[in-house]
Amino acid sequence: MDSANLTNRGLIERARRVTAAEKYDIQTRFSSMISSGEGAWLTDVEGNRMVDLTASSGTIILGHRHPAVIEAITRQIRDYGTAFASTLSVPRVELAERLCERYACAEKVVFHKTGSEGTALATRFARAATGRELILSCGYHGWHEWQLASEEFGYRQSSGVVGFGYNEKALEKMLDAFGDEVAGVLISPELLYFDLDYYRRMAATCARYDVPFMMDEVYTGFRAGPKGVHGLDVPADLIVISKGLANGHSLAAVMGRRDLIDAYDVAGVQGTYTREVPPMAAALAVMDVLDTPGVYENAERMGRRLADGMREILTEAGIPNWVGGPDLMFDVVLPNDELGWEIYEAAHEYGVYFEDSGTQLVTTAFDEAAVDHALSAFRKATRQVVAERPDIAPTTGGELTEERKLDFAEWAFGGLLRDDERTNALIDETIEKVVNRDRSIRPVLVPDPKA
Ligand SMILES: *Cc1c(COP(=O)(O)O)cnc(C)c1O
Repeated sequence: MDSANLTNRGLIERARRVTAAEKYDIQTRFSSMISSGEGAWLTDVEGNRMVDLTASSGTIILGHRHPAVIEAITRQIRDYGTAFASTLSVPRVELAERLCERYACAEKVVFHKTGSEGTALATRFARAATGRELILSCGYHGWHEWQLASEEFGYRQSSGVVGFGYNEKALEKMLDAFGDEVAGVLISPELLYFDLDYYRRMAATCARYDVPFMMDEVYTGFRAGPKGVHGLDVPADLIVISKGLANGHSLAAVMGRRDLIDAYDVAGVQGTYTREVPPMAAALAVMDVLDTPGVYENAERMGRRLADGMREILTEAGIPNWVGGPDLMFDVVLPNDELGWEIYEAAHEYGVYFEDSGTQLVTTAFDEAAVDHALSAFRKATRQVVAERPDIAPTTGGELTEERKLDFAEWAFGGLLRDDERTNALIDETIEKVVNRDRSIRPVLVPDPKA
């Protein structure tokens, strides 16, 4: 690519005319047209270098252009090929074996391309295996209609999903009221607000009602720990992983109890590209690198160094903040969302591409130089915004208020965590709606488990 005459602004204008969505592609991202990545760094078409804390929405776990992944994927394409007559291939069988060894719940594994498809498979399998209709859900699972609907608390019959907003009391009451109609509980772990025991209790509750407990570990699978939340001794009947699995290549794995995964045969699922071999070769290389002693631990150390530094900078500036969560995906919660955007946008000018949602994603390619560069940019950006925007940057010091934390939980992941009248009323209303629904309407496919 000859990028001599290309500018960020010019290319974004060209994109605006022919391809980009104004909000999704342009306004939610900083104004760089990135042309390459190397390790922890990105370079845009004007030659500006930036430390990358987006990890491409988490899909990059080893950093950009990791030599082991490049080698694995190019060897697969050059020496063997890309896709064959059967979905089965040598790397697929090897990868499935590796995953079965790696994850306690995995008796069997199936593959698809994206996280959205992975969680769709999970719900289809649960329905097929149990013959039941309803899914209890919380968190983000993708962009399909039912997935968007499931982020909100409550029941919409068109989706067959009941959102319970990470509310333990709601889960318990719902299972009590209509547990025998629930095919499975599907949750995306949130680790800033809830500790591991919270998820262990959830798994135990599901077991008590004989309902499969399924964790959407698309985001957390390689970031909550090297083996995700499940690898931290949280039991599950099924898990979905994707982001990071093939270091940027498109691949999702759904694994768990044999009876759930075997429902594939009756679930009506297909997918031409599930046979694509290069991502599986990449995933084998990813696993080799991640399991090399010291690699993951070093990344955790870098993440902690960055998180501690950012907390210190904010606290020194007097900005109430809450910085925490797993080292490779820590959250920075600020008094308001505009403040975050302004600081990260200013930091972009100083050579760091932070994740503006506040969840900062470190890869195994980070070293101290990358972390220190990121901290220096964050310090300059924070000081600048404090000076220029006192209207959004409170410098009163002290803790972030509980109210802000609870509001943020609702905004960020649909968490309904207050124990107040409104919440209790919502729980009761939702249960009533589910129990009294018109059962002649079957909005979703519930495959016959005996077919
Ligand atoms: C990103 C994400 C998905 C969706 O994955 P896509 O590959 O974007 O379809 C699902 N669940 C969680 C928890 C995610 O973070």
